[in-house]
Amino acid sequence: MDPEILENYRKAGKIARYVREFGSELIKEDVPILDVVNKIEDLIVKRGGRVAFPVNVAIDDVAAHFTPRHDDDKLTFQYGNVVKLDVGAHVNGYIADTAVTVEIGTRRWQDLIKASSEALQVAIDMVKPGLDLGLVGKAVSQTIKAYGFKPISNLTGHSLEQFKLHAGISIPNVEEFEADIVAKGQVLAIEPFSTDGMGEVKGYKRSNIYRFVRDRPVVDNDSRLLLEKIMRYRRSLPFSERWCVRYLPNPNKALYKLIQKRAISMYPILKDKGGGMVAQTEHTIIVTSDGCEVIT
Ligand code: MN
Ligand code: MN
Repeated sequence: MDPEILENYRKAGKIARYVREFGSELIKEDVPILDVVNKIEDLIVKRGGRVAFPVNVAIDDVAAHFTPRHDDDKLTFQYGNVVKLDVGAHVNGYIADTAVTVEIGTRRWQDLIKASSEALQVAIDMVKPGLDLGLVGKAVSQTIKAYGFKPISNLTGHSLEQFKLHAGISIPNVEEFEADIVAKGQVLAIEPFSTDGMGEVKGYKRSNIYRFVRDRPVVDNDSRLLLEKIMRYRRSLPFSERWCVRYLPNPNKALYKLIQKRAISMYPILKDKGGGMVAQTEHTIIVTSDGCEVIT
């Protein structure tokens, strides 16, 4: 890998790791979720990075893809919640993606959390050039099952490229027979999900997280303005409703119109189909000649 690119990844990784740890300390009973995500995003910028995607806070049976709206000030963390905090920082488009699970007040789900973090460690220990990622899925699945839980089969890790959060390669959390082969220099986000539910997620509305799809003729002034800002500042990286308030005091109408025009799309909230509790742990790694370097 080009040394300059490697430096960018390492810097992004350091920032992402720092804000993940900082953020996980803020997750407490009765704390407003909005305050936590805003503080983390501000800190990413303060430490010299850019926010790669809105800070995701997925609670209980929600596995991924939720961030509060700008006016969600009544939304607070609750005693007993199992919170997946998923953060991303980038430096010149080189992204580090990482997540941790925090249980608030109780210790009921520590094994569920351990199942996902141990599965991640097992996966990291396997990575080297030539490895069949189907075998990583198998090992992740076996590790989680040994704890008496299920991996989420339709969520995967992914490769990263400059300004691309999902760059084409998937890292399965279950055994797979048509998976990609690891190559030196690849940047991979590995993220096992464990659950006591169905082990499969389904999509729901109102994640408040969006992405640009394509430029489209939009006549409405507000929608046009917003689309121009998105194309200029986000490219293909995800963005949140919260950030649009910089340009429009209430952006939801304009966002809705842009979705209808297929200029942007909304990520679905992903919940376990059986309503099970979900834990997630994630690191970003760079594949070296004989293993990998964890950057987060
Ligand atoms: Mn993530
Ligand atoms: Mn990821």
